[in-house]
Amino acid sequence: MSNYDLVVIGGGSGGVRAARIAAGHGAKVAICEEFRYGGTCVIRGCVPKKMMVYAAHYHEDFEDSRHYGWNTTVEGFDWPRLIENKDTEIDRLNGIYENLLSNAGVEVLYGTASLVDANTVKLGDQNLTADKILIATGGTPFLPNITGVEHAISSNEVFHLEEQPKSAIVVGGGYIAVEFAGIFQGIGTNTTLIYRGPQILRGFDNDIRNHLSGEIVKKGIDLRLETNIESIALDASGRKLVTLTDGTTQTVDCVLYATGRKPNVEALNLKNAGVELGPKGEIPVDKYSRTNIDSVFAVGDVTDRIALTPVATMEGHAFADTFFGNNERFADHTNVPSAVFSQPPIGSIGLGEEQAREEYANVDTYSSEFRILKHTITDNTERTLMKLVVDADTDVVIGAHMVGPDAAEIMQGIAIAVKAGAKKADFDATVGIHPSTAEEFCTMRTKDAK
Ligand code: NDP
Repeated sequence: MSNYDLVVIGGGSGGVRAARIAAGHGAKVAICEEFRYGGTCVIRGCVPKKMMVYAAHYHEDFEDSRHYGWNTTVEGFDWPRLIENKDTEIDRLNGIYENLLSNAGVEVLYGTASLVDANTVKLGDQNLTADKILIATGGTPFLPNITGVEHAISSNEVFHLEEQPKSAIVVGGGYIAVEFAGIFQGIGTNTTLIYRGPQILRGFDNDIRNHLSGEIVKKGIDLRLETNIESIALDASGRKLVTLTDGTTQTVDCVLYATGRKPNVEALNLKNAGVELGPKGEIPVDKYSRTNIDSVFAVGDVTDRIALTPVATMEGHAFADTFFGNNERFADHTNVPSAVFSQPPIGSIGLGEEQAREEYANVDTYSSEFRILKHTITDNTERTLMKLVVDADTDVVIGAHMVGPDAAEIMQGIAIAVKAGAKKADFDATVGIHPSTAEEFCTMRTKDAK
């Protein structure tokens, strides 16, 4: 007989949620974590990143405030103070996560866990036997193998830099690269963003990508498209001498690679249990998060479905309800909204126009591009873009996208409507809240020219 009903490997969003809910359903649960409870999101991802985004945005707020009558003098930016305050909050959240687990009756363990077989987890010199094993080990940054890449950092290290870099190169065109380029530029670091493709944020609606690209360039980011790093060397003072594929060189204090993440499976010894991996090293699972082995399950980034915290928690919760709560259900991966906390931010749900045109016969789009009210009496030239993508045959809104202040907050509400299958006519029938930016989603009446 097994010692546990469930052993969870990985104390991030997905693992913690699954462990707590399963224990709440009466299961005997242990969870193992090799670093700190909270996972990437809490410890070195979404939460500390958002604090840095707030920090970076003050720069513009101070400028704007002068036009609203404030006589502000800014005496510079104190990076160590931000890091210290951020760390205090992360410590608090780490404690909360552990308490949530213990209070739910989960046995909280530390160490690097691996599989002995399909029902046994090795943790140090202990063997934990379990009816079910859930792998929720997340992902880890991927850095390409270029000469001198050891002189670069990833998002793991950026949260602990002792000093603010005066200059930085950020490599990549995804969420993390665009967010950190905005953070660095906002706090006064001279920032270059290098992306190998023709436009940042591949996969998003093209108008949204182009709009954001224009805005970040206006804010001073040196955006180099269709460029990559060839090599990195150290100069005599320890700065990074970077040679780019266009033949130019730059010397900077920091090179941050944000070129994607890979599933964290190396230490798990999955083959001992016969668990198969997919082509990217991910653990393939069915809709109930079951691997090819009946007793082994996986949720979150390690499965490479949608790498977002709320998706991992949704998967973990559905797993626990199904197998320990007598409530069979699975995570729904359709119409998952997301935000890029760039400056300005993006909020998005559903299909971009290009994707919609591939999947639907007749697509209409409605867009509005404008300067928000707040900026009309400032020198801030930032412009906001909102866009709806509609299936012209059914009038259903199949995509909503925005670049502009509060995009994440606005899009969360819009996402409910889109998830519920709202039609464009429902958006039109909804009375706007005036004056707000969000009301624009209810007042777009003219179709875009095709
Ligand atoms: P992404 O997959 O979003 O982006 C990776 C970027 O790196 C792409 O632009 C990719 O280019 C580029 N790239 C990949 N390999 C190379 C290479 N060898 N040389 C140069 N460039 C390369 O990964 P991130 O690391 O930004 O984020 C990982 C995931 O974490 C995201 O996909 C997202 O799901 C999640 N996340 C979510 C956030 C949020 O919700 N706000 C914030 C941060 C992360 P190409 O497009 O050409 O492939």
